[in-house]
Amino acid sequence: MKVQFLGAAQTVTGSCYMMEACGKRFCVDCGMHQGNKAIEERNQSELYRPGDIDFILVTHAHIDHSGLLPRMAKQGFAGPIYCTKATCELLELMLQDSAHIQEMEATWEAKKFQRRGLSNPPVALYTVEDALKASSLFHTVDYHTVFEPAPGISVTYYDAGHILGSGSLRLQIRENGKTTTVIFSGDIGRPQSLIVRNPETPPQADYIFMESTYGDRDHKDEHRSVEELGEAIAYSHSRGEKVIIPAFAVERTQEILYCLHLLARQGKLPEDMPVFVDSPLAIRATEVFERNQELFDSEARRLLAEGDNPFELPNLRYTLSKEESQAINDYTGPAIVISASGMCNAGRVRHHLRHNIWKPGASIVFVGYQGVGTPGRKIVEKAKKITLFGEDMEIAARIYTINGFSGHAGQSQLLDWLEPLLASNVRVILTHGESNAQKTLANRILQRFGTSPHIAAYLEELEIEGQGRDAAAVLHEAQAHPRVNWEFLTDEVDRKWGMFKGRLSDVQQRPWVEQTDLQDALEKLDYALTRLLSRM
Ligand SMILES: [Zn+2]
Ligand SMILES: [Zn+2]
Repeated sequence: MKVQFLGAAQTVTGSCYMMEACGKRFCVDCGMHQGNKAIEERNQSELYRPGDIDFILVTHAHIDHSGLLPRMAKQGFAGPIYCTKATCELLELMLQDSAHIQEMEATWEAKKFQRRGLSNPPVALYTVEDALKASSLFHTVDYHTVFEPAPGISVTYYDAGHILGSGSLRLQIRENGKTTTVIFSGDIGRPQSLIVRNPETPPQADYIFMESTYGDRDHKDEHRSVEELGEAIAYSHSRGEKVIIPAFAVERTQEILYCLHLLARQGKLPEDMPVFVDSPLAIRATEVFERNQELFDSEARRLLAEGDNPFELPNLRYTLSKEESQAINDYTGPAIVISASGMCNAGRVRHHLRHNIWKPGASIVFVGYQGVGTPGRKIVEKAKKITLFGEDMEIAARIYTINGFSGHAGQSQLLDWLEPLLASNVRVILTHGESNAQKTLANRILQRFGTSPHIAAYLEELEIEGQGRDAAAVLHEAQAHPRVNWEFLTDEVDRKWGMFKGRLSDVQQRPWVEQTDLQDALEKLDYALTRLLSRM
């Protein structure tokens, strides 16, 4: 049996294990790569070969695990996509939303190309139609119920406690007279999370592919999240400003509502502070939550049984249209705005940041993981300025990072999840984490359990076979990380700078206004260089 890592190897996005076993080719997750341009180019990789995939297993609805499903459908995949019922309901919303974003971005790009007189703008990665095509392929499965997507391959879903419907998968693969058991952890949740149940560890396996997002740390003060949110609200309320909460529309938004509900019960949500949920997706996702209450943890079910809906608030306003969203910016007075995307790299939240991030007294509250290269990460890492819609802005709002909302297990919780599985022969392969987190977790696993995990590399292929034997690995380093051609770029810049200086004496003879125009342009270049240097 063979596995190739088409994503989430030494990064957190683009989860996709491409498997070959029992004469079938299938993948576990098919997530979108998110980050800078070079990382996002992986979304166009030829290696997926959608026409040659027999079936797909999806661990949960997050786009970094599912976002390429419409692209697969667009390019000829027509097999079944297995997931739990709640994941299926969420995916129907999320894939369409993602497709909508792709289409909008392609339209903007096309306009930019047109304005610059360029032809052949990039096309959307996929469209809403492709998303609908992918949704038509869903087959829902229940937790703890074995099913056989192909002869020789049995699959069971366990509750990963990460978001509604999330699963860890256990596969039993019978090949050449041998049975090999493989676990894909998916994203592992936190035992204390507000809505979903605690993560469960599937039974024994030979190989464990395990996420490691927070492999290097525990969540500090995770029990204080309600209080911390209360502090941000009190801070901005007393200054008459807004609290902006960038949050994923699914799970995180519902958790924030739940948390605000608890604050309201404690009298800590001021009555003159409306709560805007500014995300059409979040509104529909909340309905999916309300339809799947049997998946909630006991605490949330207790509230519901008492007739108390944890997602309701006295002063809650949902905004669907763009006009309603824009009207929030004209609203004067304190307010709470929950809007996507959670990492501030897309969506309506960027407009709210643009209107508030430079205001002393405003708060920006981060409640989720911030990926490398995203604006959210820059703000969390205490940048003094941020560029939004091409404009540089001073960060004067107070920045809060609340750890208690993380959907991911912290280091000790990951180790606790793993512990029951560590029989003598098991092999652990770490995925879905940045290098530092992975190295730290690998060390902790070695210290605590005496086994040294393998850290998967992008495009690496592992031949796995039998009980806990070491997997033979093939790296594809040159293909995975094409060398950055610094020489070419620096030569280009040198050459053009030489030309510029060569033309300067001529420029000095030109009319004053023309010279000052060129001076403006050079000042902008100088500023861009200063900013570039500040990042080196
Ligand atoms: Zn996830
Ligand atoms: Zn993930």
